Amino acid sequence: MTSLYAVFGNPIAHSLSPRIHRAFAEQTGVDLRYEARLAPLDGFAAALGQFIAEGGQGANVTLPFKETAFRLCDTLSPRARRAKAVNTLGLDRGGIAGDNTDGAGLVRDIEANLAYPLAGRRILLLGAGGAARGVLLSLLEGRPACLHLANRSPAKAEALAAEFAPAAPLPLLGGGFEALAGQSFDLVINATSASLGGEALPLPAGLFAPGALAYDMMYGKGETPFLAQARQAGAARCADGLGMLVEQAAEAFLIWRGIRPATAPLLAELRAELRAELRAELRAELRAGPSPAAQP
Ligand code: NDP
Repeated sequence: MTSLYAVFGNPIAHSLSPRIHRAFAEQTGVDLRYEARLAPLDGFAAALGQFIAEGGQGANVTLPFKETAFRLCDTLSPRARRAKAVNTLGLDRGGIAGDNTDGAGLVRDIEANLAYPLAGRRILLLGAGGAARGVLLSLLEGRPACLHLANRSPAKAEALAAEFAPAAPLPLLGGGFEALAGQSFDLVINATSASLGGEALPLPAGLFAPGALAYDMMYGKGETPFLAQARQAGAARCADGLGMLVEQAAEAFLIWRGIRPATAPLLAELRAELRAELRAELRAELRAGPSPAAQP
């Protein structure tokens, strides 16, 4: 019998999750239907209830419902309890089981796909919102030398560091961007949404240690604003969050179906498609010529 899965969000139309999970299902021979469902901003619980009544067996949850979903769960994995947010729901065992696969997805992308082990590294995590909170435990489990949180609103980074510090077997500090002056890091992860608005972050000179990796959780057709800024500031390697997206989905698929799908072929395919879309857009712009406003 075909199993039913879905991703809930608002907006949701551009989600790659249906594409990713259908590819995993084809690869592993699992018979499933995976849909994108738009939930009203004040109607996630009702939309999920309807989905459960239809026989939905599992769901992913994205912005802005991860915290609401957390509150609806009957049981929680330890990592979801720490994150206070869920992105994966199991619905087939008589209750709502919540998990959070974002941290595992991020770490797997960095350590396995990018071959950059976390152990012993000096890590800087930029941002103190849901995404930062969701990956913090997984980063700490990678046993870095230290983990520093920096946020536009320093008090939020300080509070997040204080919350996780008792469980951290390493220095964990939080503050504002100005506290970064004079420090350098091996891995700088952008978990802010500044790239969405094309805004540069106030990063001091010398932030990237020799050989440093800059990682932006955001991804797109071309280089993200944060990665452009990091490259210019001397980051040796740059990576966006497409790999994290695919890896967190693989972790969810493993929870639901007990099989971990291979991710490399799909990741390469999605990357090639994004690049092709960017090239097509650039060609169209060139054909259109300069915009009237730019003409003398
Ligand atoms: P939240 O809204 O919870 O948090 C936003 C964070 O960004 C806050 O720390 C906020 O700071 C900071 N911020 C926003 N604008 C600016 C700015 N102009 N300058 C500096 N800091 C800014 O969002 P999330 O944490 O849920 O998401 C963050 C990013 O991570 C998004 O781009 C999202 O797409 C991405 N993401 C990617 C995933 C993947 O699989 N690749 C998975 C999950 C998230 P303040 O506290 O001061 O407001």
